[in-house]
Amino acid sequence: MMERNTWEEQTSEKDQADRGNVITLVVGVCSLVGLAVAILIVTCMKRSGVLSTTGGVLPLQTPEGRLKQLDKALPPAVFSRWYRHDQKNHPGPPPSQQEAQVCVICLDAMQAQDSIRALKCGHIYHRQCFDRWFTGSHDYCPLCHRLVLPPTDASEVV
Ligand SMILES: [Zn+2]
Ligand SMILES: [Zn+2]
Repeated sequence: MMERNTWEEQTSEKDQADRGNVITLVVGVCSLVGLAVAILIVTCMKRSGVLSTTGGVLPLQTPEGRLKQLDKALPPAVFSRWYRHDQKNHPGPPPSQQEAQVCVICLDAMQAQDSIRALKCGHIYHRQCFDRWFTGSHDYCPLCHRLVLPPTDASEVV
């Protein structure tokens, strides 16, 4: 009887050890599978752009996008030509040197060949001065604070 008991005890110890090995194996396989699935999900999300930080930015939000929008709405003009074209708004004679139109951004007088931006509000600026202002995320006229571009759906989504 004693011998049999010892043998049984040895067997059950061996069983427990086997069971322990199986549990370790199962846990190991499960964690490996879990890791693989997690990597797969992250890869899929990256590919579909869910986790992408640069892909979701609207073109209007980048300086290039804003400039394109500005070019479309307010194409640059040569000051002298704009002045002639806009004559109905300037019933008087062309301005003399003293009362020349001034770009309030750089405070320089407009020269005849200067490239300008003529805003809907009637204010004009040098093209390079205004472009720097506008691409610096300023959506309004520096003088009268009216919106430069009409509000669109794209600009409302921030
Ligand atoms: Zn200027
Ligand atoms: Zn204005």
